[in-house]
Amino acid sequence: MEHFQRQIAAFDHPHVEAIAIIRGHTLLALQRFLLERNFRQLLPILLSPITDPLNHAVDPAEIQYHQHRLKLTASIIFHKQLALTARGHEQIFVVAPNIRLEKPEVENSPRHLLEFSQFDFEIRGCNMQQAMLLVEQMVKHTLDEVQKHCATQLAQLGRHLPRYETAFPIYTTDELRAAHGDDFEQFMSEKAHTPFFITNHRREFYDRETPGKRGHYNNYDLVWPEGYGEALSGGEREYEHGQILLRMQELGMDLTPFGNYLEAARRGLLPPSAGGGLGIERLLRFICGTRHIRDVALFDRSVGSNFLF
Ligand code: AMP
Ligand code: MG
Repeated sequence: MEHFQRQIAAFDHPHVEAIAIIRGHTLLALQRFLLERNFRQLLPILLSPITDPLNHAVDPAEIQYHQHRLKLTASIIFHKQLALTARGHEQIFVVAPNIRLEKPEVENSPRHLLEFSQFDFEIRGCNMQQAMLLVEQMVKHTLDEVQKHCATQLAQLGRHLPRYETAFPIYTTDELRAAHGDDFEQFMSEKAHTPFFITNHRREFYDRETPGKRGHYNNYDLVWPEGYGEALSGGEREYEHGQILLRMQELGMDLTPFGNYLEAARRGLLPPSAGGGLGIERLLRFICGTRHIRDVALFDRSVGSNFLF
């Protein structure tokens, strides 16, 4: 009953409408930004034999449907790569729901949900620098639009969003780790006053290793300032069959579910590409300045949720 009461009270909170208005303008700005640049919008995919293996452990989210073993989407990365092979789909994006049954270790994290959405895009023949420039423009555009249309709501939330006029700084994981140790991302986020990029992360097999430079990667994260942490992960993608196999084997992955994906790569169907995925609830948490990520959505899907509804 206590949880029930808390949920009812949350629906009636004075901030709930302001956040809804900001959510609408944020999504409108993101989508319009890419539609005006001739991107094609996809609808989500939630069931597939394959999904993002992620670079951290989560509980499995799988179902059996007749003879099919299907995973719930953790990210839509492979479908983005495959969608790029479709006619007229050189540039794509999708507002994509992700299910990640995060471990209890992050139960008290103010920025982890069990289901969340990514604003996910991918571009054929694009390199990492071009993708980062697009991300920077898209983020600046979205923040400007929200400030323009939601000044009253931001004031109501007590949130002052700065205008970021200059280019976002770019650091590498190597330089930051050497200077600040393994927790460099949080350290940098807390002292930053502008969003910034960090390049060269060792993570999932599909982020492209720098050609000729083993152990270096053409990938990047965008990080929010003021301690809000990671905003987006992106990169160039592996698309050559031999290199994909090598990277999967290095990580000791079970290749069985990936038969058709590997066959597409073997036939040379996967194009070179780059893209990224922006966490929408984390973006809204940053824009609204809310303490906990659960506060930007109506229904609590935080790691400690009791799933009332
Ligand atoms: P990833 O593929 O893990 O880099 O996720 C892409 C983006 O989604 C991240 O940069 C975050 O903004 C967001 N994100 C990842 N995991 C979560 C989570 N458990 N809850 C909310 N947002 C998340
Ligand atoms: Mg990430």
